[in-house]
Amino acid sequence: MHFQLIIRNGEVIDGTGNARFSADVGVNGERIDAIGDLSAASADRMIDATGKIVAPGFIDSHTHDDAFVLTHPDVMPKIVQGVTTVIAGNCGISLAPLRADAVPQPLDLLGVPERFAYDSFSNYLDALDRSPAAVNVAALIGHSTLRVRHMDDLAREATAGERADMAADVEAAMQAGAFGVSSGTFYPPAAAASTQELIDVCAPLARYPGVFATHLRDETADIVPSMEEAFAIGQAVGANLVLSHHKVAGKENHGRSVETLALIDAQGERQPLCLDCHPYPATSTMLRADRIRQSSRVMLAWSTKRPELAGKDFSEILPLYDGSVEAAIEDLKPAGAIYFVMDEQDVQRIFRHEKTMVGSDGLPNDSAPHPRLWGTFPRVLGHYSRELKLFPLETAVRKMTGLTAEQFGIEGRGHVTVGSYADLVVFDPAEVIDRATFEAPRLAPEGIEHVIVNGAPVIAHGKPTGARPGRALRKNH
Ligand code: ZN
Repeated sequence: MHFQLIIRNGEVIDGTGNARFSADVGVNGERIDAIGDLSAASADRMIDATGKIVAPGFIDSHTHDDAFVLTHPDVMPKIVQGVTTVIAGNCGISLAPLRADAVPQPLDLLGVPERFAYDSFSNYLDALDRSPAAVNVAALIGHSTLRVRHMDDLAREATAGERADMAADVEAAMQAGAFGVSSGTFYPPAAAASTQELIDVCAPLARYPGVFATHLRDETADIVPSMEEAFAIGQAVGANLVLSHHKVAGKENHGRSVETLALIDAQGERQPLCLDCHPYPATSTMLRADRIRQSSRVMLAWSTKRPELAGKDFSEILPLYDGSVEAAIEDLKPAGAIYFVMDEQDVQRIFRHEKTMVGSDGLPNDSAPHPRLWGTFPRVLGHYSRELKLFPLETAVRKMTGLTAEQFGIEGRGHVTVGSYADLVVFDPAEVIDRATFEAPRLAPEGIEHVIVNGAPVIAHGKPTGARPGRALRKNH
């Protein structure tokens, strides 16, 4: 037997949640060809994984990497963590289909307006084919992007004609290989959309199975009615519901994850649903007065007009505006911030839930980004699993591999099985840990030693190889 690559003597955690087992993993081409005792086989390249874990490549279930994978195809913040596939187009914000000279916040978190250069979803996927990234990309189509494309006034509900136009774009995107639709009624471009508008726009999901991933209308006092609205949309269109970055924000809501998770358990008996979360009690998004008031601490992540203030604490910035939050926002915007708005106990409780996937929600274009961009996956493995013992390593790996692939319908990935694509990570279970902090957010983690995408190494012995073997994934209908 001969292989292009053998990973020898590792402990395989296969992404199902089952206990680890000792085995060699043989790769030929882009696929896993054998798992077992391959000590008699030869290989072009060997990786000695003695004492290490061999796991499926991690899938980042919640990203805003739509444009970043094209502008920064090495996708460094992700590959150093062991991420081999990103799910783009979340929170209602997708790069395609939209051509625009200007975009409203928060669409600008994807990049400058010139990046919105694809008038169809298939054109965007084709661009990824022509200019592959280091990681695979599975993309959602965003409802807010569609509103910006089809509506002259975002402050109202869409008309019947506009809904039909948006639904036609959803249908075309699903035919092209989108994995579903995302929404973000929390944000101004979609806040005026009704429940029925979302049901109408997502209607093609009944014919083209996919997810409906949603940034809820409210994650504070009205979290429960907002979840019920999401349940209703998911049920009406027959989609697998993804509750994005599930959280209960604001001090008066701390502890309410007990209530929201019970609701998720009860509703999970009636419809398919899941959720994602990142391992930090702070979130990050556009600069907003409501979020500032709900937070115990705020840090400026970026500001186009006052770039020199990025990374500063809002308590240092406010005195420049005589303590006026409104005056500060007016002067700084467009801008983004990091908000300490959750309770760590809620975050951990949400993470322990069996349907919670790991999603970084990293914002790759921010000048002072939230550390989740560089640290999420090793933090779950090293801090939550090894140090805090929130769950076994097998469960941690499942939340970033098999569970995510199953929920989004990504075929042939997320598990270490013969015939699967060879998206693999070799990491040291005793060493793996995040290093990025709120003060120093761009530090690569430790303990991620080899990362393989479609059979090709993108990290070897902890160092990037420069290879770009990623694919634009297309969901097969
Ligand atoms: Zn969001």
